[in-house]
Amino acid sequence: MSAADDLFREEIRSWLETNCPVSMRTPMPADEYPGGGRRARYRNPDTKLWMDRMAARGFTVPLWPRAYGGAGLDKAQNRILQEELQRINARPALVGMGISMIGPALLEYGTEEQKLEHLPSIARGDIWWCQGYSEPNAGSDLASLRTSAVVDGDDYIINGQKIWTSGADHADWMFCLVRTDPQAPKHQGITFILFDMTTPGITVKPILLISGYSPFCETFFDNVRVPRRNVVSQVNQGWTVAKRLLQYERTSIGGIGNSGQKAVTLEELAREYVGVHEGRIADPVLRADILRHRMNDRAFGLTMKRSQEEMTAGIAPGAMSSLFKYYGTEQNKGRYELTLALMGTSGVGWEGEAFGAVELDATRGWLRSKANSIEGGTSEVQLNILAKRVLDLPE
Ligand SMILES: Cc1cc2nc3c(=O)[nH]c(=O)nc-3n(C[C@H](O)[C@H](O)[C@H](O)COP(=O)(O)OP(=O)(O)OC[C@H]3O[C@@H](n4cnc5c(N)ncnc54)[C@H](O)[C@@H]3O)c2cc1C
Repeated sequence: MSAADDLFREEIRSWLETNCPVSMRTPMPADEYPGGGRRARYRNPDTKLWMDRMAARGFTVPLWPRAYGGAGLDKAQNRILQEELQRINARPALVGMGISMIGPALLEYGTEEQKLEHLPSIARGDIWWCQGYSEPNAGSDLASLRTSAVVDGDDYIINGQKIWTSGADHADWMFCLVRTDPQAPKHQGITFILFDMTTPGITVKPILLISGYSPFCETFFDNVRVPRRNVVSQVNQGWTVAKRLLQYERTSIGGIGNSGQKAVTLEELAREYVGVHEGRIADPVLRADILRHRMNDRAFGLTMKRSQEEMTAGIAPGAMSSLFKYYGTEQNKGRYELTLALMGTSGVGWEGEAFGAVELDATRGWLRSKANSIEGGTSEVQLNILAKRVLDLPE
């Protein structure tokens, strides 16, 4: 570390001391999601204050250029910032598809006009983005999508349906895949386009789950008029942008078990629920399971870190993102399975005074983790990509 880096650390530490509200230094509750957006409601006003303060410094997207709302930090400075945030156990100030998916894709493929229009508002958390990829008959085989976009003067007219659109009922804008050339081979007739969710002709229907939540929606398009200038990259070449965005999404989902915040560890849970015998976790089978999980976590963490450093150096994650997505989500599911094994019946509560907050969060987290290996492309699809693109195996 250079003297300049030491000075930077000192400045960041003192800025965080003054600007990170005390309540933002506690673990993020499972049902809290600082995604921003025009319709955001904040149960804790500190969440918004923290978001605004971080955004004003460009720290919600520290590596983006200042012109687009970032802080323009270099790799070493960003590492210092992350270490200092972790040191005080700060919650992420802003999360969501804006900063993790469409933002990076626009940095790479957007026009200057598109970057200036969208990136600063993403960095501030002003706009909540949703992803219009999956359709009723296009999930794993995404390139079979049929939502159509037909040119009409300076606009496209969009018709069709998306499904599983996470947060569409809260979203302000959508990045969407549409078919612009039905005659072309399926990967070549797709265009990547952006539009405001208040555009006439868009209907959003939340899908109600048995949990009582509606985390995703059906989204219908009925003659939705979208300016042609909202196309990202070239018409009919949207598949290239779509794939790159999926790589960012998969890398981000792969890091799901590692928010940077201190969480209750498996060892702590084991001590509480299983007990200790002669200084060791009392149950030898669970002890071995925890050790194995911890070693795999450590190895995976180091691999992720290497890739993150490559990304900050401008190397996109590529097909290796499938490895992160596959392994990270399997690890996360494994962690919740172990959590429940340690907690026993205390880990399967849904409501009621018999269960503590950590226990109720564990049940919800365990159920939610099952979706990790589906969203962003299933585990089977990731294994196919790894076989083909990384290991070069025949189809
Ligand atoms: C929590 C959650 C959030 C989501 N959010 C969004 C969102 O915001 N926007 C969006 O567009 N989509 C979203 N999705 C949809 C998600 O991308 C799809 O569910 C996923 O791509 C799988 O598609 P599918 O559900 O149609 O399953 P299918 O493609 O029908 O797959 C069914 C099963 O067949 C297997 N399978 C399919 N093809 C193959 C193959 N070639 N080889 C081996 N096995 C195969 C799959 O692995 C799976 O087990 C979300 C999904 C979840 C669970």
